[in-house]
Amino acid sequence: MHKGFLRPVYGSYGVDSLLNILVTGGLGYIGSQACVALVQAGHGVVVLDDLSNSQRSVREQIEKIAGSEIHLEIGDIRDEECLCRLFNEFNFSVVFHFAGLKSPLESVAVPVDYYDCNVNGTLSLLKQMKRSQVKTLVFSSSASVYGIPAEIPVTEKNSVTNPSHPYGRSKLVVENILADLSSADREWRIACLRYFNPVGAHPSGLLGENPQTIPCNLMPYIVRVASGRLEKLSVFGVDYSTVDGTGVRDYIHVQDLVEGHLAALNYLECNSGFITLNLGTGQGVSVLQLIHEFENVTEIKIPFVTTERRAGDVAECWADASLAENMLGWKATRTLADMCRDAWRWEQQCLQKSS
Ligand code: NAD
Ligand code: UDP
Repeated sequence: MHKGFLRPVYGSYGVDSLLNILVTGGLGYIGSQACVALVQAGHGVVVLDDLSNSQRSVREQIEKIAGSEIHLEIGDIRDEECLCRLFNEFNFSVVFHFAGLKSPLESVAVPVDYYDCNVNGTLSLLKQMKRSQVKTLVFSSSASVYGIPAEIPVTEKNSVTNPSHPYGRSKLVVENILADLSSADREWRIACLRYFNPVGAHPSGLLGENPQTIPCNLMPYIVRVASGRLEKLSVFGVDYSTVDGTGVRDYIHVQDLVEGHLAALNYLECNSGFITLNLGTGQGVSVLQLIHEFENVTEIKIPFVTTERRAGDVAECWADASLAENMLGWKATRTLADMCRDAWRWEQQCLQKSS
């Protein structure tokens, strides 16, 4: 296997030069696929992950797809000694910060854990970045900062004063910290990327999302019903004023999302300051539409029952993603069928492994 990483970085960076990039949470669903893309783009990748929601074996899958090694450090972003050691050892130019807790429901039950990991964790990272003069950051934010959006499609100008849960508020706190940091020191280059609903998996079937408990999100639930791991889907609410009464979201293929991150990195190469961008497709898709698309693609029937609305759900939410297109030259291109096909391939792979 080619071991082409972690050479020194000379001078200012560019897309053609090799960067050493710290990827926090790089064994997770989105981070792992970002690692593949970064390695394939020629960058050196160091992953810092505490395995709280991932497995060590993900590293092998990243290396297998990318054809090159990465460095893995098992540790917590709140461990300042660990951060100090890593930053001293590797000459990072950029940090991709994916690590964090991400369940809205869980955040209501254990808000302090969420603020500690998501906010304190980011603060530890920022302090170390400042000490090491590493001032380029791509941060995983979320459409949940919008709470109940006043306008659909949601532009970045929408109010973010009232996220619906501690998870969304923890993302908003971090966004505000990053904005303040950028105002205080214009050398920082920061992209806050507000993801809408990431779904799908790596097309190889080797990387994807594998919740350890019963999934809360729609697509992971659908694939488990399709494979027989779960009996039937509950459709939460059929009385919304939407196209067919069910909730509408902006599902985006995780590979499109990853490409958005690489586009953000290219942008930050040329621009300092602070940007906040929606990453979505700009298309609203209802629960029933997603079920039907999945059934068409896989030819598997998804049994479902309709139930009450899920507490805290918004009726519809999809992105106006034109700012990302204008600023980054990035646009999601994968179809809903691609998302279903790749999610299903991943589920089959998971089942094969566990049998
Ligand atoms: P994930 O849980 O699959 O990945 C997060 C990774 O971070 C995991 O590997 C976990 O072990 C690690 N981690 C968690 N806490 C850590 C800590 N304190 N120190 C070191 N590592 C830690 O999540 P994901 O879906 O890949 O999401 C990545 C980021 O994107 C998260 O910040 C999440 O909030 C954000 N986001 C995700 C979604 C989504 O639907 N997946 C939507 C919007 C935003
Ligand atoms: N949903 C559903 N059944 C499920 C999970 C989700 O009907 O088992 C619905 C949910 O009410 C919402 C949509 O699917 O309208 C997307 O939910 P998800 O949790 O995936 O995303 P979020 O609501 O956090 O954007």
